[in-house]
Amino acid sequence: MPLEQDNPEPAYKRKAHHSGILAQGWQKTKEALGHPKFEAPDDPYFACPYDTEHWVDYDEKSGYWYCMDHDAEWTGPRWNFRLDELWRTYNLEEKAEYVEGIPKPLRHNQKITDGDLEYYFEQLDGDYVKVSVLKDIFGPSPERPDGLIKVNVTDTSTTVISSSYLRRLKRITGKKWGQERAVGENDEMLVRFYSVSSALPVDESQEEEEE
Ligand SMILES: [Zn+2]
Repeated sequence: MPLEQDNPEPAYKRKAHHSGILAQGWQKTKEALGHPKFEAPDDPYFACPYDTEHWVDYDEKSGYWYCMDHDAEWTGPRWNFRLDELWRTYNLEEKAEYVEGIPKPLRHNQKITDGDLEYYFEQLDGDYVKVSVLKDIFGPSPERPDGLIKVNVTDTSTTVISSSYLRRLKRITGKKWGQERAVGENDEMLVRFYSVSSALPVDESQEEEEE
């Protein structure tokens, strides 16, 4: 996947990088197939999102603009190559995932997203971990002074993390989560987080009883 920095311009503005011979061959094929009948409006939408060198034309029968090159090069129903469809697919495949930074929860009382919560605990699931290391995983850092989760490293009379996180995990993963304190051979405080697959979800178990 090309880095964003290498291609600051959206694809529709980029020139195609066909190798010379291939491009010449394809150009001949294209000309044999015929030139577009209609001139596309001067708007970035009316170009193939994948390659600005592609020819686009208006299909009078369907009333949609489509990419002639995609239509000629690829198999499948013609509506796949309508600009409307190509742009939607292009945005889904090339633009949908947010990669510019770290998503933060919208809710002000949360410091960790559901996605991160699930990611970290699926990794920790079942292992005994030093509480001091857990603090390094979730605690404050110079660049994120709020940290992700408050870790209790001192008071052994209460849980290592708030049980509210385990309730959130249950909602996210559909599994029940628990935490168990333990102690290491050098008296290190340890903790284990574990998930228990619950039986069928409530609705399904009710359906089962009816059968
Ligand atoms: Zn195209």
